[in-house]
Amino acid sequence: MPRGRLFVVAGPSGAGKGTLIEELLRRHPTAWLSVSATTRAPRSGETHGVQYYFLDRATFRDKVRNGDFLEWAEVHGNLYGTPRQSVVEHLEGGRDVILEIDVQGARQVREKMPDSVGIFVMPPSLEELERRLRGRGTESDSEIARRLRNAREESKAAEEYRYVVVNDDLRRAREELCAIYVNESPLVKADR
Ligand code: ADP
Ligand code: 5GP
Repeated sequence: MPRGRLFVVAGPSGAGKGTLIEELLRRHPTAWLSVSATTRAPRSGETHGVQYYFLDRATFRDKVRNGDFLEWAEVHGNLYGTPRQSVVEHLEGGRDVILEIDVQGARQVREKMPDSVGIFVMPPSLEELERRLRGRGTESDSEIARRLRNAREESKAAEEYRYVVVNDDLRRAREELCAIYVNESPLVKADR
């Protein structure tokens, strides 16, 4: 059984990372989406251990000190981190691991795991990003304003990535992400 590969999907909040990854996971059972830890409050419908591990700041800080995170960062005023052990276990157990993280975390992973594949999901415009964030209806107006301010800065990081997927037409963007995955996955190749 070959080892899996690490895929890092980053991009502004609301660009469509979650939507695109959902389709990838549906098509490819070889891919596993890592569950991050966060100090952000759960949104309605979110469950501890499913979308995130919801931790208080003290517990999160303890885990940072213990070296439990592969990467972590403060994003939009909350702390987010990738649990290291489950990532390593899945890679060694023959699964590709997908991280949906912010651009600061992606830089840390690139340093530590140069073999990882970086993919940046770019919204077609800031106006469309705002429409999507409002349409999703999961954040307050002030939270949306904060995410839009951060999006300008985050978008400058696109050039650091091996791949950029512009998420204008959803169907095309989905196909693009899946094609990148199929081309870069050692597990899909071994299966052929
Ligand atoms: P992210 O995970 O990057 O924060 P989401 O996947 O939650 O973003 O997408 C944000 C919103 O935009 C969701 O309501 C989603 O349904 C919508 N969306 C995603 N991709 C597209 C697209 N290509 N065209 C129109 N709406 C989209
Ligand atoms: P949300 O609060 O909307 O779920 O996520 C906000 C931002 O945090 C998104 O840009 C998301 O990619 C990022 N994020 C989620 N999990 C992690 C993580 O484990 N590490 C880092 N660095 N960012 C994360």
